[in-house]
Amino acid sequence: MSWWNTGEGSGSQTYNRKPRIDLVTCGFCGEAGKFEFAQKLEKKNSTGKILHYDTLKCDQCGNYTFAFWSIGDSGLQGIHQLPYLRKTTRWPDYWPADVGRYWLQAKRNVEASNWDAAALMARSAVQLAIRRAGASGKSLFGEINDLGSKGLLPPIMVEWAHEVRELGNENAHPTPDAAGTTSKDAIAVVEYLSMLLKILFDLPHQIASRRGEPATTP
Ligand SMILES: [Zn+2]
Repeated sequence: MSWWNTGEGSGSQTYNRKPRIDLVTCGFCGEAGKFEFAQKLEKKNSTGKILHYDTLKCDQCGNYTFAFWSIGDSGLQGIHQLPYLRKTTRWPDYWPADVGRYWLQAKRNVEASNWDAAALMARSAVQLAIRRAGASGKSLFGEINDLGSKGLLPPIMVEWAHEVRELGNENAHPTPDAAGTTSKDAIAVVEYLSMLLKILFDLPHQIASRRGEPATTP
């Protein structure tokens, strides 16, 4: 695939083809979209498509982040940046914001080895995501089974859910002397969550953008 295809078929939605600087996060401090341009370069091909090569200076910490980007035919903006912060700071803008917020906190808790908190946030995010997708049921497993029977979750995801210990933990309230969550169990539920979000939100979004349909947020 050529770099000239950047923004064709996949990318983030722009409004009136206006470039979105908020898609760049400072590679040093993680602040999103607060930059001044230190250098702007561009190259145009015979069809009029423009590739942009920008060096951005962070307003908050003063460091530089390089952004390579282009807006495709259908108004999607593809972007690559260097460096990127090795810390989770954002979620795709087409995820429901509440799900994204919980997922972000689950990931950050894994990064900081806070296993109880990571598992709790991930389990809540799973619950929110499947309710967003229209699940009903009396327990989390009941809701997951319901999505499976509606064809919204593949059988392998329903089956996998029953192997993730933290998803079966209906007692989300603290109990005295309860054993802490192990790193293995916490990571398992965060991984389940990530795959679930791929299936419920990433896949439909990617298919819609390939078909040229407007993005929708569930
Ligand atoms: Zn910065």
